[in-house]
Amino acid sequence: MCDCLCALAPATANGVTLFAKNSDRPADEGQVIERFEPRRDTGPVGTTYIEVDPHPSDTIGFVGSRPWWLWGVEHGVNDAGVAIGNETIYTRLDPRAFPPALTGMDLVRLGLERASTAAQAVEVMTALLETYGQGGAGHRGGRNPYWSSFLVADAGAAFVVETSGREWAAEAVERTRAISNRTTIPAFDAAHRHPGQPVERLVDPRLAASRAVLAAEPVSVAAVKAHLRSHVGQEGYTVCMHVPGEAGQAQATTAALVAELPGPARFLLGSPCTSVFVPLAVGRPLGQPIPWQHLDPAVAADLEAGLEADYADDDGWNAEAWRRVGQALRTIAR
Ligand SMILES: [Zn+2]
Repeated sequence: MCDCLCALAPATANGVTLFAKNSDRPADEGQVIERFEPRRDTGPVGTTYIEVDPHPSDTIGFVGSRPWWLWGVEHGVNDAGVAIGNETIYTRLDPRAFPPALTGMDLVRLGLERASTAAQAVEVMTALLETYGQGGAGHRGGRNPYWSSFLVADAGAAFVVETSGREWAAEAVERTRAISNRTTIPAFDAAHRHPGQPVERLVDPRLAASRAVLAAEPVSVAAVKAHLRSHVGQEGYTVCMHVPGEAGQAQATTAALVAELPGPARFLLGSPCTSVFVPLAVGRPLGQPIPWQHLDPAVAADLEAGLEADYADDDGWNAEAWRRVGQALRTIAR
């Protein structure tokens, strides 16, 4: 599951493009926030399940949020100011019949590493999709492969990409756009949506909530954060997700991102309703990210307000931000 949204600069309170995602994953799976430095081409690139052709040039550095066992990432922002996130979608094409290939998370990482604009990321990702295809479980243990849709944005443009196997469609974002766990590009939706998928119950309430936040222009960082922390939806399939279940079956939001392009990229680990968005300067030393722990919402709000007030785009900030998060957690532990 997942929810992604973006608002281009003319629609936002700060006058810069906003990109956001809640990453909904197995509730017991940890994610790590990492900086991937630019690197030179040294041969085929080993992704989660397959090798792909070498990078055509040096990779672009980025900060991403990665489920610990995957090569790919759920979402990230690169040094050129491109943000990408993906979503699980199902279509009439059964993904269980396909051999391991690229996963949606692999494509997010490859887009971040190889594209300096959102439009270029669409070209790179769809070319890789056509060449290598999609396949293989996105959840550890080999169950339930799925297709992906993507939201890709930079300071001046954004695109939605929806896929089914090696087929895809892309749509430019005119002003604001939200995606969730269903096809939404009209022609692609009509041709590919799985008739049995319960989108009205489990997906559309979240998508409608995202659209409502975007419709209330100007769209602010505070409004988007509050949305990602909200529990609109049913049966646990809420924007900040809490689907109960046996071990390995429960699903939850385990990471989130609210990025300004350009501007701070606010990464969060764990449940947004009990965690903190840490504003980070992409392209600077990352410092030492702190593993997530539950925070009282009031403590998280205070910590977050302080981080927002003091954010600085310099080489020292990211380490300082993590130091403050660590200090807040130690204070609570006492
Ligand atoms: Zn929650």
